[in-house]
Amino acid sequence: MINNMLKIRAHHLLCIPRFYSGGYNKVFGKNLKRICFKIRKNPNIKIKIIKKCDDICNKCPHKKDNICKKTPKLNYWILAQDNKVLKKLKLKENSVHNAKDVFNLSIDKVNSENIRSICKGCVFLENCMHIGINNSFKKDLNKRSD
Ligand code: SF4
Ligand code: SF4
Repeated sequence: MINNMLKIRAHHLLCIPRFYSGGYNKVFGKNLKRICFKIRKNPNIKIKIIKKCDDICNKCPHKKDNICKKTPKLNYWILAQDNKVLKKLKLKENSVHNAKDVFNLSIDKVNSENIRSICKGCVFLENCMHIGINNSFKKDLNKRSD
């Protein structure tokens, strides 16, 4: 992460607006929370969309050799998930956006109606279906800056 830009892999555009707490371990959860609050405090921060390990993966116990190795098959699932999200949101790999724009797009395009098919296979799906969008995140994203 450089000061005014976060690198976020495509499918995490769906996870971040739904995040409340938890994750794989304390360090992971703390880092994810820090990133969520960084976005909430500065909705104009730049987000570079990537298809490899990002600022969230950086503190994940499953990142090894710079790829996701949670299970032998997971890296393929993750890459497919990144591609699916890029297609759904009509975004390009390595493009840079304002956090506000790209997370509003994600919230608009992926909802309780279609998340089951988009995130099929994710271990957190039932949880994300249950909790939905974090309203505080959405509110902070759209707060006036003046
Ligand atoms: S499980 Fe894989 S994709 Fe998810 S945060 Fe960890 S390293 Fe990244
Ligand atoms: S179901 Fe999985 S991939 Fe989809 S938003 Fe939730 S944590 Fe992210």
